[in-house]
Amino acid sequence: MSKKNFKEETIRPEVERLLEKAWEDGVETVWDRKRAQEPHCGFCELGLSCHICVMGPCRIDPFKNGPQRGVCGADADVVVARNFGRFIAAGAASHSDHGRDLAELLLAVGQGLTKDYQVRDQAKLKRLAGELGVDAPGLDTAGLARAVAEVLLADYSSTKQQLAFMSRVPAKRLELWRKLSVVPRGIDREVVEMMHRTHMGVDNEAVSLLLHAARVSLSDGWGGSMIGTEISDVIFGTPTPRSSKINLAVLQEDQVNILVHGHNPIVSEMVAWAVRQPDMIAKAQAVGAKGLNLAGLCCTGNEILMRQGVPMAGNHLMTELAIVTGAVELIVVDYQCIMPSLVQVGACYHTKIVTTSPKAHFAGATHLEFDPQNAKQQALTVVGLAIEAYKSRNPDKVEIPGKPVELLSGFSNEAVLAALGGSLTPLIEAIKAGQIRGAVGVVGCNNPRVKHDHGHVNLTKELIKRDILVLDTGCAAAAHGMSGLKTLAAADLAGPGLSAVCKALGVPPVLHVGSCVDNTRIVHLCALLANSLGVDISDLPVAAAAMEWYSEKAAAIGLYAVASGIFTVLGVAPPILGSKAVTEMAVSGLEDVFGATFAVEADPFKAADLIDARIKVKRQALGLTP
Ligand code: SF4
Ligand code: SF4
Repeated sequence: MSKKNFKEETIRPEVERLLEKAWEDGVETVWDRKRAQEPHCGFCELGLSCHICVMGPCRIDPFKNGPQRGVCGADADVVVARNFGRFIAAGAASHSDHGRDLAELLLAVGQGLTKDYQVRDQAKLKRLAGELGVDAPGLDTAGLARAVAEVLLADYSSTKQQLAFMSRVPAKRLELWRKLSVVPRGIDREVVEMMHRTHMGVDNEAVSLLLHAARVSLSDGWGGSMIGTEISDVIFGTPTPRSSKINLAVLQEDQVNILVHGHNPIVSEMVAWAVRQPDMIAKAQAVGAKGLNLAGLCCTGNEILMRQGVPMAGNHLMTELAIVTGAVELIVVDYQCIMPSLVQVGACYHTKIVTTSPKAHFAGATHLEFDPQNAKQQALTVVGLAIEAYKSRNPDKVEIPGKPVELLSGFSNEAVLAALGGSLTPLIEAIKAGQIRGAVGVVGCNNPRVKHDHGHVNLTKELIKRDILVLDTGCAAAAHGMSGLKTLAAADLAGPGLSAVCKALGVPPVLHVGSCVDNTRIVHLCALLANSLGVDISDLPVAAAAMEWYSEKAAAIGLYAVASGIFTVLGVAPPILGSKAVTEMAVSGLEDVFGATFAVEADPFKAADLIDARIKVKRQALGLTP
């Protein structure tokens, strides 16, 4: 590892200080490993390397001096499109398998196989049952849970012609998808078909592969992820606005600190329950701590922040640094975005890493598998391990820099509607009057190749200044929270129109709508707006941006946004630039197909200009002032 000017890595002084502390403590971080990998492989960056079969691996020379075809004869377009198709399939599979876990849990609740989980939002369960055409009369809550779970689990199969939530898609959009043959059928089916198409010697045409990639992504956005969001609301409660705190300084020097990390609220909700149990608090006090302190990281942090107001310690690039504070006893994880390095960083301090999913084992971690029957007991065991670890904390190694920042969270679509008085009309009127010129989902990850939080925060500040409402999820949401953009006072940073609306409604100009699977709340809201106006989603003055994305899941989200008609700016180029045909399709050709494209722009100020220009065009086409 090397000592560097850490200012280049992050916009946050407390992150800078912990990077310095990591260096002092001899701890390697994600930034050190990124530097060790440089220069990254150019073939891979361009999507031009292929290891689909063992006649290869093959590489296509972007400078045209070397091979232009792999051993099988695939050219740059086919190699790039196949790689991209698999990238999207992996992202969609990850979200959708998370959704499946929730559907299976709802089924277990309905079958009476668990006492640890219940239906917390019965009204939403009934609404969903109605929407899905479940015959409700005579069914009690358990019966409804079972029936809804069965309908949604059937969406994973290959027996259907379209997914259940196609009923939410505006008529014009659905018609377009039908014409293009991209209406998603079974979620698993679309992923499997992509793996088949990308086997050597199957689909060898870039446009055909990209259209199927769009279908796969739609099976995520209007399928697996949407199932994840809706069932999480049913089981754990639909979020309502609530205040909390965010930043590493939510860790408490005098308490046992436990972090939940990963994505699925199935584990984090149980740990949140366990830390409230009086006998566990008494046990913590018996080892000299003042109490038990729970905080979240990444998307499972977003889930329990949205529903329970549990404070959030930080986003993706801060997960190792949370351990470097020396104040974390235990991190309990489920799956996705959990760096394997956490085990090694934890070993430099006294921090235990506990894994909980049969799908996600980490060498060197303690594995305590959660299932619907044992979840509360396992959560109590996790808390007990944290209390035990507190005894080994070295006070000389503890340093928690910075201060907690206040924020407002919990803006589910139901909460947004409630804030608007029960109908979208006030929002539509504000958009028509130009008080709110448009809305943008600023979402996605951190990536050490981008200055930490620089893209998210600067883009969002620019957008709200221009009277553009921001909805956020994932690690972008944490970035905005840590920069104070989710407070009522942040309305003063917005343009006059947006500021007035926020003050009248008592909401911030940047609304936290949840975790990464909850991007489905944004597409659903767009569909509701489009239906109210009798237009397609692509006609709305809306956009999306993922300035610091890194993961396959983020690529799947970006593609389902574009295929749903939402212009999407990426701050990091996807690995497609090695094919002119695929790149042109992504940044312009998709406009003719789906009425929206990607743009790649790393500079958040230029990205704001691109989005602003798009919103102007869409407003003018609707007959509104730009
Ligand atoms: S599929 Fe073709 S390009 Fe890919 S590794 Fe095999 S031979 Fe090479
Ligand atoms: S935003 Fe990206 S890095 Fe953060 S939790 Fe979601 S997928 Fe992972």
